[in-house]
Amino acid sequence: MKATPNLELATTCINRARGILGGKIDLPAVHYDGDRTGIHLSDLTSCPASAYYQKILGKDVPPNSDTNILHFVKGRGLERFFAEEQEGIIVDDISCTADGFYPEHGYLEIKTTAEQMDFFDPLTAHPEWIERILGYCTAYNQTYWNLVVFFLVGNMPNRLWWNIKEFGKSTEPYVGIALKAWRLSFSEAEITENWDMILVRKLKLEACIKNNTPPSKEWIDNVVQEWQHKICRFKNTCIYLHKNDGNYEPLNCHWITQSENTIKSNKKRGEKNG
Ligand code: SF4
Repeated sequence: MKATPNLELATTCINRARGILGGKIDLPAVHYDGDRTGIHLSDLTSCPASAYYQKILGKDVPPNSDTNILHFVKGRGLERFFAEEQEGIIVDDISCTADGFYPEHGYLEIKTTAEQMDFFDPLTAHPEWIERILGYCTAYNQTYWNLVVFFLVGNMPNRLWWNIKEFGKSTEPYVGIALKAWRLSFSEAEITENWDMILVRKLKLEACIKNNTPPSKEWIDNVVQEWQHKICRFKNTCIYLHKNDGNYEPLNCHWITQSENTIKSNKKRGEKNG
């Protein structure tokens, strides 16, 4: 696994945004699938409980809060300025959609962050990004993928004491906003090993949905960071947050109870009509 800075790609992305703002490039209309169906690669590289709730609850899913929407727009809204989302493809019943493709650079994944920038290591900062990118490599049959990171507050966080304590003092001049890109290259073994893990997670998630049993605490702890719970649309009802003793009895969860009641009443209705 290797990361090579790709300054040209960062420039290409910024030039695309420049073209859009200058009226030379059209920003394509985007339609998001409100009723997300099937299993997506992102379901298997982020919180499995979130994916589980979405599948179990269907239309009963709690609405996104204003904060959730702002986080969503911050990521998805900005991405479209830097690259054009690609046609999704389905591999092993898993939906995968690349954030962009430039013929001279290849495929890319775009992320936004307010993290420290000067010591940012694209290979270790976010294991879930790498899992997702390795998954795309399988889906799109690639051995490399580009990672573009929009540092929303530049290297300002490098001046914060907790980052100085962890990373040392940066000697870089202050910048308030920045875009960086890397080309990430992988071995065939790394790509295969990651996809095997993704397939195991898919089977586990499918079993959770089928049995109406939330994913295990161990699984969640392995892939979810503390801050993600705080901005999650399920935080008010998630049994993981409200049952830290690891009690995953579905009846403890309001939303699942509601869903179970729906299943029961549908069954009754079916029996009555059938
Ligand atoms: S609150 Fe946390 S564990 Fe629960 S669904 Fe959201 S991110 Fe996952």
